Amino acid sequence: LNDPDVVSPAAEDVRPPLPGAESDKYRRGVVGILAGGDEFTGAAVLATGGAVHGGAGMVRFASVPHAVELVRHRWPEAVTTVIEPGAKALDAIGRVQAWVVGPGLGTGDDAEELISAVLSTDLPVLVDADGLTVLSRRRDLLTRDAPTLLTPHAGELARLLDADRTAIEARRLEYVRRAAAELDATVLLKGSTTVIAEPDRPVRVNPTGTPWLATAGTGDVLSGLTGALLAGGMSALDAACAGAYLHGLAARLAAGGPHPEAGESPISAYDVITALPDAF
Ligand code: AMP
Ligand code: MG
Repeated sequence: LNDPDVVSPAAEDVRPPLPGAESDKYRRGVVGILAGGDEFTGAAVLATGGAVHGGAGMVRFASVPHAVELVRHRWPEAVTTVIEPGAKALDAIGRVQAWVVGPGLGTGDDAEELISAVLSTDLPVLVDADGLTVLSRRRDLLTRDAPTLLTPHAGELARLLDADRTAIEARRLEYVRRAAAELDATVLLKGSTTVIAEPDRPVRVNPTGTPWLATAGTGDVLSGLTGALLAGGMSALDAACAGAYLHGLAARLAAGGPHPEAGESPISAYDVITALPDAF
């Protein structure tokens, strides 16, 4: 942290704006979530939960029937749409201000077509999980004018950059900078310490978090939460910093206290969702 090109934001630096007295759900921000498939549905439920408790004015969720059924059951707050695979899939969903695409989506042709459609819009897009795997064979899709936020863990970044995972783990700052420059995107590299880079900006090092976060599903919560912040009008860099900060703080609170050493209880991804209002 003596490096001038590395910054660790404090709470004041990442606080999302409060809704004004005159705001309404559309101005608060509508986030569209494209996640889950016939095989994986948990990621869809968790990403939607992150957005529902992440301050979105409205969460629109769209997927295959089975995933939609489960999300509707768990999150009646979300507006859901069953979509058919194909280039016109987005037309049925209605207006959104930002997209989250990828968790549990699968990596086949249908997923690729959906990711391609979302990245052709002029809206901010957060790509996570399976979406990143698809992008590693379709890096051409990253050529766009609107903001793109990628949220890989080291394995996903290794595939995206065709690099070695162990090297990334050992030199996270270097690789997150390189990823942002090469992919021309905002990149949030997850792991024991989450680092965030944007071309030509200092790298942000997230100061919150706990090793209890190392459990399945927490990354999906982060993508929904950060998507909600993007839809609320934060820039990709600010949304990434605020999302990582709130996610880590919620995990600490759920584990038993605001300090890493105070939290001694195991937590699930669901517990992180539930603690998000307290973290805000
Ligand atoms: P994913 O890799 O998509 O499942 O996301 C896992 C989440 O847990 C990310 O937010 C990581 O930053 C976080 N995480 C994983 N391992 C650790 C760790 N050892 N300490 C703190 N956070 C972690
Ligand atoms: Mg993940």
